[in-house]
Amino acid sequence: MIFRPALLVSAGLMALMPAAIAQDRTPHEEMARDIYRNVVEIRSARGQQNVPDVVAYLVGQLKGAGFADGDIEVTDYDSNGEPVQGLMVWLRAEGEPKEDPIVLLAHMDVVDALAKDWARAPYKLTEEDGYFFGRGTADNKYGLTNLVSTFIRLKKEGWTPNRDLVLALSGDEETGMVSTRGQAEYVDENIKPAFVLNADAGGLALDEDGSPLYYGVQGAEKTYATFELTVTNPGGHSSAPRADNAIYELAGALKKIEAYKFPVMSSELTRASLRSSGRQRLDGLGKAMRDFADNPEDEAAIEVLRANPATVGTIGTTCIATMLSAGHAENALPQSATATVNCRIFPGVGIEATEETLKDVVENDEVKFELISDLVESPESILRDDVLAAIKASLADRGVDVPILPHMSSGGTDGMHYRNLGYDTVGISAAAAKQNDTFAHGLNERLPVKSFYDGLDHWYVILKTLAGDDTAD
Ligand SMILES: [Zn+2]
Repeated sequence: MIFRPALLVSAGLMALMPAAIAQDRTPHEEMARDIYRNVVEIRSARGQQNVPDVVAYLVGQLKGAGFADGDIEVTDYDSNGEPVQGLMVWLRAEGEPKEDPIVLLAHMDVVDALAKDWARAPYKLTEEDGYFFGRGTADNKYGLTNLVSTFIRLKKEGWTPNRDLVLALSGDEETGMVSTRGQAEYVDENIKPAFVLNADAGGLALDEDGSPLYYGVQGAEKTYATFELTVTNPGGHSSAPRADNAIYELAGALKKIEAYKFPVMSSELTRASLRSSGRQRLDGLGKAMRDFADNPEDEAAIEVLRANPATVGTIGTTCIATMLSAGHAENALPQSATATVNCRIFPGVGIEATEETLKDVVENDEVKFELISDLVESPESILRDDVLAAIKASLADRGVDVPILPHMSSGGTDGMHYRNLGYDTVGISAAAAKQNDTFAHGLNERLPVKSFYDGLDHWYVILKTLAGDDTAD
């Protein structure tokens, strides 16, 4: 790994600088931080009905920067009883476009945060200890901010792309994905892009010291499926137990699922990803990753990868019990017992096939299965040469020279709906973070301040590379 020493120096200096100097930012950086603060401080979580506030704010910013009414489309959706909105924004080619459009994804909603559990107010952007704290700072209001501020920057520059660039900002990615689905269908019918880029996945991975390790590209997602397993029973008085019992039967089914190992699977993408990640580590896990990439039937490697939570999902489908409810009184036999089992299905396997496997494993017709999630299956996407070249240009602009590694994530982002419709969709976020350091969806979510600013040219370079006349052939 090589990277510009200046980056190290500036990182070191930043830590020593007094706040007043550290905050001396360019107008674009200030504008982006201002957008970031405004969108983080709107509690756009399910149940709050605040997504329209995010939309109204962003529309105001976009119109202020010169986007015409005809370049902005706000759509209302009903996301399982809650009104949400989706926002689409066009940066249009002038005259006849040279190539098919590019669609760019981010989401405006967040997983809710309970203020009493957080160290700081979750819906306030707080800069502290080199981090921006707040719900959504990582997932996905940085991506949202970055795409919108880049569009504004390009518009203000008077730059016109040689193909249409279209933002598709969804309003319920974290819950129903109704807006995502609506937008994906709209895109499929009306825009037919060459490909789709997602700001909500991928990005620069940093080591423990904050040095860039590799740039991850999300090229595939496992399919998300949740099943409810229910056993019912006539019940009765607990002083007179029957032979059959809903809780025991369900427990038996769950123990069988616990013991079952889904078949080991791999694809060119997952093997390449394990090989490169394995090269970054000197420990036994790294060796197992490399060995598995060379030989996906290597039993010793499989054992190590299966035993590690960080890798178990990379070599096949996983299904795991996540919730349980049963019985209605301490002195009554249970009339029903229900468990929730969440599956992350390897691309290509399918939800139905996974349900059949689980039924075979459980081997008990009394256990009724119900699919309660409503998500689509998504095939692997290709990392196109032109997108790869654009990522390289962005990294070079940042002074970062690291391997670019496609990977499969456990899902599910908006991207799955576009992949499901046949569009190559890759996650190429601008964010830089250490592993498990941003606490997305968790307590005290954060993004390194340095990462925030360092990534602000990412989409600018990417879009100019992919849609600029000087570089297009
Ligand atoms: Zn997200």
